[in-house]
Amino acid sequence: MALAKIIDGTQIARDLRARVVADVAAFRRSTGIVPGLATLLVGEDPASEVYVRNKRKAATEAGMADLHHHLDVGIGQSAIAELIAELAADDAVSGILLQLPLPKGLDSASLIDLIPPVKDVDGLTTLSAGLLARGAQGLRPCTPTGVMALIDSTGIDLDGATAVVVGRSELVGGPASRLLLERNATVTVAHSHTRDLEGVTSLADVLVVAAGVPGLIGANHIKPGAVVIDVGIHRTDHGLIGDVRFDEVLERAGWITPVPGGVGPMTIAMLLANTLAAARMQAGIPAPEAR
Ligand code: NAD
Repeated sequence: MALAKIIDGTQIARDLRARVVADVAAFRRSTGIVPGLATLLVGEDPASEVYVRNKRKAATEAGMADLHHHLDVGIGQSAIAELIAELAADDAVSGILLQLPLPKGLDSASLIDLIPPVKDVDGLTTLSAGLLARGAQGLRPCTPTGVMALIDSTGIDLDGATAVVVGRSELVGGPASRLLLERNATVTVAHSHTRDLEGVTSLADVLVVAAGVPGLIGANHIKPGAVVIDVGIHRTDHGLIGDVRFDEVLERAGWITPVPGGVGPMTIAMLLANTLAAARMQAGIPAPEAR
């Protein structure tokens, strides 16, 4: 059998970002509004610092205002809550992103829920999750929407297809399963209690793996010709690897995302798209037709 085709997340993200740049420029011309992304980083976590720096750089490159706040690790819950309330009321702020994880002792769920749904560019508030569960319009979490764009790039018809998501986290697996259901796929969610993982995944026309377990999925888990999206990221001495054993699955799947260069680059691209969508909603401009 032929090897799987590689889904080039780097290129797809680059194309999406170029579209966002053009759309931001058009939005600025027609409204005079500069979309602004407020990033909040608490403490000195090195990985979070890198993620936030990349998001800020991407926002600036897209023609948005970079409205960053770096808060001291000792700052209390109520001071962060006050800042979020200020940003929520500030017209210059289109989107608010609270970088997770927060230092110990802070309750991230209650802080995230202070972000108004129209500024929730990470799509993680209870209200945004509720809108997604209902299939109502709202801002959706960036990694799962990136996953959907990668699936769509293969041209597969999701309507009626069998989709399996491995993982049910609030950040990735849960919302990915709802987005697939919204597109009329027949969705099964597997998780750490699933008894026969191989039996479940090998039925999938589309398999999204977000378990956070390096190399969990091998060739035996794959239906021949399936679309396989690997969300996992693990740092090893030999570089980044995913939840899928790439070399093995390459020989059985129809399409596969690499790690790195698959889902990773899509997350920032979708954050930019969400920030522009947020600015549009706040200006009362309907979203353009999908292209
Ligand atoms: P999580 O730990 O919150 O959730 C993992 C899920 O996988 C859980 O629902 C759990 O039940 C399930 N699971 C764990 N072990 C399993 C097993 N053996 N069999 C079946 N299911 C199992 O993780 P998360 O936040 O959803 O992230 C998942 C992975 O995706 C991680 O590797 C993370 O680093 C990566 N990630 C990547 C991006 C990106 O931008 N590429 C973004 C977010 C997360």
